[in-house]
Amino acid sequence: MSMRERIFVAKPKLAGNERKYVLDCIDSNWISSSGKYISAFEEAFASFCGVKHAVATNNGTTALHLALVGLDLQPGDEVIVPDVTYIATANAVRYCGATPVLVDVCPGTLNLDPQKIQDKITPKTRGIIPVHLYGYPAEMAAIQEIAQKHNLWVVEDAAEAHGAEILGKKVGGFGQCAIFSFFGNKIITTGEGGMITTNDDTLAAKLRLFRGQGMDPNRRYWFPVIGYNYRMTNIQAAIGLAQMEEVESALLARENLAKWYNEALANLEDKLILPQSMSLVKQVYWMYTIFLKNGSETSRDEIIQFLDGQGIETRPVFYPLHRLPPYESNALYPVADSWAGKGINLPTHLDVTQEDVAYIANCLKQIV
Ligand SMILES: *Cc1c(COP(=O)(O)O)cnc(C)c1O
Repeated sequence: MSMRERIFVAKPKLAGNERKYVLDCIDSNWISSSGKYISAFEEAFASFCGVKHAVATNNGTTALHLALVGLDLQPGDEVIVPDVTYIATANAVRYCGATPVLVDVCPGTLNLDPQKIQDKITPKTRGIIPVHLYGYPAEMAAIQEIAQKHNLWVVEDAAEAHGAEILGKKVGGFGQCAIFSFFGNKIITTGEGGMITTNDDTLAAKLRLFRGQGMDPNRRYWFPVIGYNYRMTNIQAAIGLAQMEEVESALLARENLAKWYNEALANLEDKLILPQSMSLVKQVYWMYTIFLKNGSETSRDEIIQFLDGQGIETRPVFYPLHRLPPYESNALYPVADSWAGKGINLPTHLDVTQEDVAYIANCLKQIV
C-alpha cells in the first residue's frame, strides 16, 4: 500500500456558496420543500439547458418515474432502453408496470444503437429512453427520426450528462422531456436530487401536480389524482443553486482532466481504447472511461483490484442489464457483451491533479 492519499473515483466539490445558502435555509427556517431556492435552482437549471421548464425532484430515479407517469405509461406498454445503463433507467419503466425492451449499444460509446431499435418495436411500444452514458451524448437525430416515424415519445436519461451538447445544443431539450440526477457522484450534486426538463407547458404542469402528491394547485387538500411525494427540499436546492454557479468551470476542469489522461495514456494505446471525441458532439466527462483492447472481464477485474491496492479507486463499466437477475434475457447483445466487461471508469472529479493522473497512468502501465 502506498503512502499516497487514496484517489476516489468520484467526489463532490462544495467550494462555492453551498455553505452560505444552506445556512440561509436554516437561519430562515425554510428547510422543507417550500422556499426560494427551489424555484431559483429550477430556473437556473432550465436556463442552463436552454429549455422552458425544469421540475426538481428528490432524486434522479423519481425524476424518471415521474416523467413516465407524466407521459401516461401504462401496464403492458413497452419502452426501448439501452442494454448498458445504470439500472434505474429500466426500473422506472417497471414501476409503471411496463416492460423495458433492451436494445444493444454502439461500440466505444455504449450508447443506444439507433440501427438496432427498429427490430424491437412492437404495437405496444410507447417510447424510447436513450441514455447519454458517462456524459457522451446519444445519437439523438437518428433516435428522434425513429420515434417520429412510429409515433413514440423520447425521454433523455441525462443523469450523467449535465452540459453535454449535440451540434451546439445542450442535452435536456431533445425529447418530450429529459431527466438529470444530482447524486453525490454526479457532475453537479445536491446530495440526493433530480430534475426533469421540458419545453412542454402541459407536461410541466402535470409533473408538478404528480410530484406534489397530486394536490390541486388552486384548491388545498383537493386531490384529483393519485400523486407522489417526489419533492426536493429547499436545502437540496440551495446546494444545487451554488453548484450551478460553478457548473461551467466544473465542466472545463473535467475536460482538462480528460486531456491529462489522454496524454498520460497515449503510450498505452496498443493496450487501451481511450475515449473517442467527435466533432459534432461535446461530451462531458462524468467518467473518464477506458476499455482493454485484449483481455476479459476477469483480467479487467484483476486490474481494478491491483489499482485498488495502489490506492486508486476505479469502477467497472455497468453490467449489461440482460445479465442482471431482474432483466435476464437470452436475446443477443453482442456489443454490450464484448465491450462492457472490458471497461473501467478512472477517477474523474475536480480534486484529481495532473500528478495523480501520472501516478494512475504509471500504475496502469505496470498491469495492462
Ligand atoms: C444516477 C443515474 C440515475 C438515477 O439517479 P439517482 O439520483 O441516483 O436516483 C438514472 N440513470 C442514470 C443513467 C444514472 O447514472
